[in-house]
Amino acid sequence: MTDAVAPGRVSRLPGESRPALQLSFEFFPPKTDDAEDRFWGSLHRLAPLSPRFVSVTYGAGGSTRERTLRMVSKISSETGINAAAHLTCVGASRDEVDEVVRGYKAAGVKRIVALRGDPAAGVGQKFEPHPDGYANAAELVAGIRRIGDFDISVAAYPEKHPESPDWDQDIDNLKRKIDAGADRAITQMFFDNDDYLRFVDRAQKAGVTAPIVPGIQPIHSFKQVANFATRCGASVPSWLGDRFEGLEDDPETHALVAAAVAAEQVTELVDQGITEFHFYTMNRAKLVLALARVLGRRAV
Ligand code: FAD
Repeated sequence: MTDAVAPGRVSRLPGESRPALQLSFEFFPPKTDDAEDRFWGSLHRLAPLSPRFVSVTYGAGGSTRERTLRMVSKISSETGINAAAHLTCVGASRDEVDEVVRGYKAAGVKRIVALRGDPAAGVGQKFEPHPDGYANAAELVAGIRRIGDFDISVAAYPEKHPESPDWDQDIDNLKRKIDAGADRAITQMFFDNDDYLRFVDRAQKAGVTAPIVPGIQPIHSFKQVANFATRCGASVPSWLGDRFEGLEDDPETHALVAAAVAAEQVTELVDQGITEFHFYTMNRAKLVLALARVLGRRAV
């Protein structure tokens, strides 16, 4: 790695105290009453950690449009935490997407995580934009900026987006999103910190100055996370599989290993000067609470 201080990284002299950390938490909109109870239970446990924001994902093709807006509005009104609504442009015209953005604005939502979305035919298939739609996330960011003064986050991929033919095109795309008006990038999950640190260096060399916040996936279920990682192009190192091997029927040891793995990941990143973290909570609080403690963040 180079010694240069990359976006989102802070250099520190020996003995100097750590700068304040910024945490954000990602949730998905629940589908059932039980799931909604779990959502609020977890949110209320994590809220005292004073996250910078809590974000709620958006189903492909707008399938969670109402639920995402309802959860985001309720998070703001009931907890006072800044809430961010995800938004994708897959399968929708510009007018339809703009209407959702205006709906967010009218509901007082100030933060958007702007994404293209996966191809309607499935991850790995060719992406066909709607004939009257935004063709990619950079166009979406520009469209959102035309409608309101939102805080905008975009996605970044420490192992390259699966559709990017090479690194130059991948980093160019990130740069276009930032140049179109995004305030930060949040990364896809990764398990090898060197992938992330190399990516940040590449982006910095290409002129990206916005923070690139690591997206941390605590492993609530190795099987589920490994499946999901493979589908979205994140690799699962063999050492990680080895650590969880044989723990399918031993949830207690699985949870302890998951906490140890994630703690190792975040402390190593803090040692590299990283001060912002985005946690994929899967609507669960326990592991994220433990990690916040490891990072020195207590409920206030
Ligand atoms: P883009 O930035 O548009 O890039 C997609 C690909 O197209 C890249 O390979 C890029 O290089 C290429 N590309 C873009 N523009 C051009 C161009 N002009 N010429 C050539 N190539 C180009 N999905 C959901 O459905 N809902 C969510 O809520 C959601 N939240 C997410 C949150 C985070 C933090 C992350 C990392 C991902 C999330 N996703 C979500 C997944 C995301 O939608 C997919 O990864 C999707 O495949 C790409 O979205 P993007 O915004 O990165 O697309």
